[in-house]
Amino acid sequence: MLRRTLAALVTLGAGALAVTAPAFAALAHPIAVPKLKVVTSTTDLDDIARAVGGDRVSSVHISEGYQDPHFVEAKPSFILQLRRADVFAFVGLDLEIGWMSLLVDGSRNPKVRPGGSGYLDVSRAIPVIDVARGNVDRSQGDVHPLGNPHYWLDPENGKRIAALFRDKFSELDPAGAPTYARNAQAFVARLDAAARGWAPQLAQIKGKPAVAWHTSWKYFAEYTGMNIVGFMEPKPGVPPSPAHLAGLVQTMKRTGAKVIVMEPFYDRKMADFVASKTSARVLILPPSVGGAKGVGDYIALMRYDIAQLANTLQLATAQR
Ligand SMILES: [Zn+2]
Repeated sequence: MLRRTLAALVTLGAGALAVTAPAFAALAHPIAVPKLKVVTSTTDLDDIARAVGGDRVSSVHISEGYQDPHFVEAKPSFILQLRRADVFAFVGLDLEIGWMSLLVDGSRNPKVRPGGSGYLDVSRAIPVIDVARGNVDRSQGDVHPLGNPHYWLDPENGKRIAALFRDKFSELDPAGAPTYARNAQAFVARLDAAARGWAPQLAQIKGKPAVAWHTSWKYFAEYTGMNIVGFMEPKPGVPPSPAHLAGLVQTMKRTGAKVIVMEPFYDRKMADFVASKTSARVLILPPSVGGAKGVGDYIALMRYDIAQLANTLQLATAQR
């Protein structure tokens, strides 16, 4: 009997030791502070948050890189993530209008609700293009009356996003400020080094006429010098009409545009139809991290899209 009690005590003791061990480890290593918990709306913001946050931050994203970011299914599981989050970073300009308030309100977490310390509208760090003048009106179908939200496809904006994360993380975790500054600087250095690598491809792209499905490629065009002469959509978010496509075919013939750039989630058949009338090529490009095989981080995304576009333009020119 006594022996059995003793054995139980020993077991208990071992259990107690196991429980307290991490606490001792934390004392011995003062770096092991609780991580800043970040939720982002997109994979691109997630990747940059990880680059800047390093070991001090844990980050998860809501939409996947292969999904249409305008129409994300708001899974209730994300409410739980937001409930525990210190930061909720989103693209803004109403890109997430369809689902965001549902999740953010549902989280009942004052930190990530409007006005909270962790409510991070990333578009505030960006020089936004396509801001509608006059009345903001969705009735004509334009899904982006507040301005074009697809700004992450310009690496200069990637740097601005990194700087914003650096500042926000430093505000919420001042002890980590030197780490965040160092990480943000390293991210910019990696991006600049990558850009030196793709400079010859940018030279091939510069000034070349092209068509895009959606205005999502405008910031990308600003950076690469691709000359967008028309869009498959008559207005952002409005599906192509036969009359619009007939006009687009004329524009492509006039300008010599030989490539149609589009995301994987739009209707390729329509692009193929326009391409068949203009002997152009349809180029499917991922708009976000995770949107294609091998596109595992932000720099890889930019490298991939630039290389694919340069390649396709070269093939289209050779074919003429
Ligand atoms: Zn859009």
